[in-house]
This record gives sequence, C-alpha cells and structure tokens, in this order.
Amino acid sequence: MKKPVYLDYAATTPVDPSVAEEMAKCLTLDGVFGNPASRTHGYGWQAEAAVEKSRRQVADLIHADPREIVWTSGATESDNIAIKGAVEDALAGQGSAHVITSAIEHKAVVDTCKWLEQRGVDVTWLTPGRDGRISYDQVSDALRENTRLVSLMLVNNELGCITDVASIGAMLRQKGIMFHVDAAQAAGKIAISVEQLNADLLSLSAHKVYGPKGIGALYVRRAPEVRVAAQIHGGGHERGMRSGTLPTHQIVGMGKAFDMAAGKLEEEQGHLENLRAQLVEGLSQLEGVSVNGSPDHRVPGIINLSFDGVDAESLMLGLHDLAVSSGSACSSATVEPSFVLRGIGLSDRQAHQALRFSMGRFTTSEEVEFAASRIVEVVTRLRAVR
Ligand SMILES: *Cc1c(COP(=O)(O)O)cnc(C)c1O
Repeated sequence: MKKPVYLDYAATTPVDPSVAEEMAKCLTLDGVFGNPASRTHGYGWQAEAAVEKSRRQVADLIHADPREIVWTSGATESDNIAIKGAVEDALAGQGSAHVITSAIEHKAVVDTCKWLEQRGVDVTWLTPGRDGRISYDQVSDALRENTRLVSLMLVNNELGCITDVASIGAMLRQKGIMFHVDAAQAAGKIAISVEQLNADLLSLSAHKVYGPKGIGALYVRRAPEVRVAAQIHGGGHERGMRSGTLPTHQIVGMGKAFDMAAGKLEEEQGHLENLRAQLVEGLSQLEGVSVNGSPDHRVPGIINLSFDGVDAESLMLGLHDLAVSSGSACSSATVEPSFVLRGIGLSDRQAHQALRFSMGRFTTSEEVEFAASRIVEVVTRLRAVR
C-alpha cells in the first residue's frame, strides 16, 4: 500500500537526513559516545565540546547567549520548568502569585497552569478573538498587583496564527513581570529574537524543526537575571536547573537541525507560501470553506479549514490517503471538539467541521495537488449524501 501523503508537520517532522547522520556519530564506540559530564578523560571532553557547539547553534537561532540555553526533554518539559519554576521562585519571595495565560495554549501550558490553579495560584485565562491572537490590551487589562508571570505562545500549533508577543513583552519588562513564550511551533518558521520579543523564558522543541523527538531547550534570560526553581533534581547539571546525563546524540541532532533551519528560513517560507497558495487555489471550487485563525498574521505551513456541513471525522476517514489532524480529542464514548477552536469562539458544530493541514520541508507540489483533489472529491461526496 502506498503511504498516505504526510500533511501533519505541526504534530512532528521527520528528522532531516543530515541531522540523522550527525546523530549517528554520537552513539557507538568509534564515535562521540562519552558522558559530557566526565571530566577525567577525552571521551567526556569530546562529548562536552559537541554539546557546547549545539548549544551555540540553538542559541543562534533565537539570538541568545549559549549560556542561556538549558537542555530539556522537549517543549512540554520546558513549559513545565518555566511555569512551575518561575511561580515557585516567586512564591518563595512573595507568598502569593497571579499568572496570566490563554485558553488556546498548548496542553503543556494549559495543564501546568491548571495544576497550579488547583494549588491555590490565581490564573487568568484570556480568550482570543476569532483570529486566535491575544492582544496587548487584554494582557494589560488582566494585570494585577501580584501578577508574576505571563505565558503566551508565539505561533499556535492548531491555527498557525502569530501573536504579537513583542509589544506585550515590552510592557511586561517595564513592569518587571516575567514573560514566558512557547515558541515550539515558531522556531524554524519565523525569525525569533529573544531581545526583540522581550522574552525571559522561551520553550523550544527539536522534533518540530526536523530534529529528533525527546530533546528540547528552555531559554532562561541572564540579564536581567531570571530565576526558575529546579523541577528535576540530581547532579546539578545545566546550572542546577535540570539534572540528568545530557543525551549527546539528541543534543547534536537538535543543534544541527536548528543550524539548518537558520540557513533555510527564507527559502522554506517561500516554499510553504507557494504550497499554501496552491492548496487554497485547489480548493477554490468548493463553496463553504473557511480559514480558522488570522488569515494575515500566520505561518504559511499550517492551515486550519472548516468545511460547512461536513463532519471532520467522516472527512478524515474519507481522506485515508492523507495524514492530517482534527485537533479533537477522543475519549471513550464521544469525540470532544478541539479546545482551541472552541477557544476562538467556534460552536461545537463548527469545531467538528475543521481539519488542520500542515506542510513542511519535504512536502511537494504534486502532493498538495493530490491532496486538494482528494479533499474536493470527498467533501463533494459527503455533502451529496447529507
Ligand atoms: C509540540 C508542541 C509542544 C510540545 O513539545 P514536545 O517537544 O513534543 O514536548 C509544546 N508547545 C507547542 C506549541 C507545540 O507545538
């Protein structure tokens, strides 16, 4: 059987072959397999050098200092350390804390903030408009005397929309409130500068950027200094913020992937804009198709579409030769619509009519043409039998 066309790059990307090649050099006896923390021999020094080179590569993509990069197991862990660690540190100093976030963050942020809420931390859940973007005024209106942390994503993983976090960051910096940005879905897709964003903490993941799964990073600002309490203890690696033997092969993979992403940023944006235009054009003969989230402030590779009168689950079944995502969560009996689509004000019914198509480095024009024709075919068929 032919493999389905992969249009789920926002869920994960394949590892770039050049990345896999670099990783393979860090595993076996003839390679850089040592423990980067081993100070007593060359195996350790070599591994440490590889880790530090990667640290610079990751720092470069976000215009940070390598000393501000903490390795984690992925953006989920980065989000956890950033939010729990910052709140814990604030509570130690003040005794009460208020956190502001949004209703359409990644579950790694939503669930972490809910966990804090259950433990007595005040959380304000901002709800964006239909464009999926949180505004400066929403954040500034929600500020309280004891607001310690604001956590917002740069690019939404279901909608692809971009929030103007730079202006929000500037305001928070002035007020001395910590600002965490989940940039897992932005890295490699748009230019990122932690200076320009005024971010204090920023989460990254390798596997959304053609690197391996299971490795990520947290940017932790040095000036003005940001303190986060450790959430994993043992050994004091990563300046005490995240203990555990560093996985050299994973880190080298992330470094190589981020280095490649920096070099390809504009080329890939152009490639994806072309593919997006082609997909939209291919679907133009269908009536009743709408784009969810901002049509202007967005990355080209992620497009979330609602098809009037068509159930997305049935559509996905019909599109068995495409690998796409609906964003809905299946529990035992029912299909819960995407909380992100509900979060931007879609009704349950509208949310049940949406699919996310996400394209990437290896998506071809032929694949998009095929996808568009299949979507037209299945949507037309499903509407005819209604
Ligand atoms: C994928 C993703 C995460 C989680 O990253 P992992 O490395 O898979 O833990 C967090 N936030 C956003 C916006 C994401 O897209």
